[in-house]
Amino acid sequence: MRRDLNELAGVEHDVLVIGGGIQGACIAWDAALRGLKVALVERDDFGAATSANSLRIVHGGIRYLARADFARMRESIRERSALLRVAPGLVEPLGVLVPTGAPGVPGKAAFGAALALTHALSPARNRHLDPSRRIAAGRIVSRPECQRLFPALNTATFNGGALWYDARMTRPERLTLAFVVSAASAGARVANHAEAEDFEIRHGAVRSVRILDRLSGARHEVRGRQVVIAAGPWTEELSGRAGRRANLPGGDPRHALALNLVIGRRISEVAVGLRSSAASEADPGGSGGRFLFLSPQEHTTLLGTWYGMADPSTDPGPALDRGAEVLLAEFNRACPGLGLAPGDVIGRQWGRLPLKAGLESGPSTSLAERPRVGGRNGSCPANLLTVEAVKYTTARAVAQEVVDGVLASMGLRQRECRTAETALVGAELSGGDLPPLAQRVLYAVREEMAMTLGDVVYRRTELGDPPGPSREALGLAAQLVGDALGWDEKRRAAEQASALRPGAV
Ligand SMILES: Cc1cc2nc3c(=O)[nH]c(=O)nc-3n(C[C@H](O)[C@H](O)[C@H](O)COP(=O)(O)OP(=O)(O)OC[C@H]3O[C@@H](n4cnc5c(N)ncnc54)[C@H](O)[C@@H]3O)c2cc1C
Repeated sequence: MRRDLNELAGVEHDVLVIGGGIQGACIAWDAALRGLKVALVERDDFGAATSANSLRIVHGGIRYLARADFARMRESIRERSALLRVAPGLVEPLGVLVPTGAPGVPGKAAFGAALALTHALSPARNRHLDPSRRIAAGRIVSRPECQRLFPALNTATFNGGALWYDARMTRPERLTLAFVVSAASAGARVANHAEAEDFEIRHGAVRSVRILDRLSGARHEVRGRQVVIAAGPWTEELSGRAGRRANLPGGDPRHALALNLVIGRRISEVAVGLRSSAASEADPGGSGGRFLFLSPQEHTTLLGTWYGMADPSTDPGPALDRGAEVLLAEFNRACPGLGLAPGDVIGRQWGRLPLKAGLESGPSTSLAERPRVGGRNGSCPANLLTVEAVKYTTARAVAQEVVDGVLASMGLRQRECRTAETALVGAELSGGDLPPLAQRVLYAVREEMAMTLGDVVYRRTELGDPPGPSREALGLAAQLVGDALGWDEKRRAAEQASALRPGAV
């Protein structure tokens, strides 16, 4: 992948996508695969924001059964299969265990019926899947089996459990990158560290977008016949700069903070869901008593998720500190046998998620459930579309809808979407060992548009995995990256300092 903002500014694209999280990356890949001339710009690095900070679960949507929302459930099942198919090296099946018997948790009979229905609703879930990536049927497990799967469970109330299979992204940041690399290999022009600053509007349409190259400081006018803003929690603010007025009731908070903790050891082989006893007032954004999940990673475990209200104008630090305490305490009440201590926590992952905010039925401070696809109304430039995702899992399907809309807006005949079947570049199943780290660092710089030390450490290799890189590893990587990119001593030291800063992602 080559980063060339002069080239990007030199042609008119069919579609200019702003935002290189999973949503923008999926849109760029789909549009490029359907033969459109695509540009993608990302202010920071691809997948560096919300998309790098999820619980990494590709949901099959069993939760939607409780409200008989079969359409959403089918969509989740379809998307889980699509990701297992197109990115087999980055997505794998994950067992999920929910112990039964505790107050507020459905009983074995209810779970048994739900699992049978899930099975019946997903006959094609393993179509064209590598055998190692197939989703087995869920089942009810006995108390001893439940305890074997999760030995820390020692409460008197539990009487067994429900075990089903979802999927896990092993590295969400690399999965986002795989969509970007695939888009580039299909002809898209992509650039990271390239920020959309402002919009030139002429005759009610976006004529060009001013892009700041954050590495050189140069500014470029980039043109797209259609412009799509997929800037996650920044979408509303950015589209406001293009003159779009979101039809949101004023005053309501738009986003919640969402936080996961990284526990420094792998606690179980399966993900475990336990009902929190917290009342709704301790669960802003939710209705109280939600499920807390432990999700196993290679060497660690993610514990999530705490939600709190986010005021974008204030530093989220104090709220996240409080959230980390509350989450740990809530989890320890639900599972005293594990006795997690603050010292077990080696990292935090957080982001902002959209709230219903009056746009969907239900309390305005509950998490949004539907992606926000906007545009084509009175206040919006005619060729501007906006999209804010609510789930990593369904970003591919949302992209399909967006690209259908782009083709329609351009007056073009619909072309078949092939992203659910086409293998992503660089996300194939790899049975063998990875090449040596030094080789991968150089590959990241030469082929994967790593432009800073942080890009290499946090999103192209495992060097930055919690608790973060050692000084030695960082020094070695800085040497390699610096030699490849021609950095002087001063730049090398600055990159090292920036990559060591906590939260330097
Ligand atoms: C704690 C937590 C746990 C979660 N767990 C799960 C889970 O288990 N499963 C699941 O499916 N989903 C989960 N999610 C939700 C999921 O992560 C998000 O819905 C998804 O990542 C959003 O992707 P996005 O591309 O819309 O946003 P982002 O990833 O935030 O991407 C938007 C991008 O736009 C860029 N940008 C902003 N302004 C500009 C500009 N002016 N110019 C250029 N670029 C710009 C940003 O730098 C950013 O990279 C979780 C989220 C959180 C926070």
